[in-house]
Amino acid sequence: MKLNEYKKKRDFSMTPEPKGDVKPSEGKIFVIQKHDARHLHYDLRLEMDGVLKSWALPKEPPTKPGIKRLAIKTEDHPVNYAGFEGTIPEGHYGAGSVEIWDNGTYEVEEKLDDRMVFQLKGKKMKGEFVLIRFKGEEKNWLFFKKK
Ligand code: MN
Repeated sequence: MKLNEYKKKRDFSMTPEPKGDVKPSEGKIFVIQKHDARHLHYDLRLEMDGVLKSWALPKEPPTKPGIKRLAIKTEDHPVNYAGFEGTIPEGHYGAGSVEIWDNGTYEVEEKLDDRMVFQLKGKKMKGEFVLIRFKGEEKNWLFFKKK
């Protein structure tokens, strides 16, 4: 099950985060959530195969070409997580505040296991972006704006 890891990490009687299910929607949405947890980071999420494929960026997302950012693959999230903003309580997974930093739709131009090229249509993130997995690594990807 795609969301097992997501559900295992959370106590839904305590966190305001959505429980969610695998649920494909019509369009392809993306969201970047600013997550002020133990370390401030940005969570990039792309709707794919009925879930939100997710990467954590330790630094601010690249709005211009020439900026390369580390993107660490994290567990799939339910599609309705894209609308989530709120505070995850102390002592729980991801404790801290979550706010939507940017969102919109995206279109895939190229998709391989270790490389993806896509157009983001957000307010801050606009244009062609690339995610490339580091050779021989599972979780570490590079994320940048192509043009
Ligand atoms: Mn996060």
